[in-house]
Amino acid sequence: MAKSMNRLNDIPVAEHFRLREFECPCCHCVRLSPVLLACLVELRRAWGKPILITSGYRCAAHNKRVKGAPRSLHMAGQAADVAVPLNEQAVVEILARRAGMAMIIPYGRRNFMHLAVA
Ligand SMILES: [Zn+2]
Ligand SMILES: [Zn+2]
Repeated sequence: MAKSMNRLNDIPVAEHFRLREFECPCCHCVRLSPVLLACLVELRRAWGKPILITSGYRCAAHNKRVKGAPRSLHMAGQAADVAVPLNEQAVVEILARRAGMAMIIPYGRRNFMHLAVA
């Protein structure tokens, strides 16, 4: 089997998304809410640009390490941080809300946004 075929979680879960994009960087564990995925698919379609997920699922240890909220939805597979340049955050906020995201936090000059579903 080709080595590229053997990468853990390297499985398409939607047209533009692979499961490994959501995995925890420390342990490769992953949880992914189908609702979050559906919202991201719709956001990608509406925005028309590739979505770079900078933080998806986090195990408890990793969440602690990155100083995430103690009950962060990243640990439930219901949140993703997405790279968005500062000057596009206002439009992406509108599109993300329209796509069904329940919680949207723009991080301004840090050039990412926290998106979560209920
Ligand atoms: Zn981990
Ligand atoms: Zn986040």
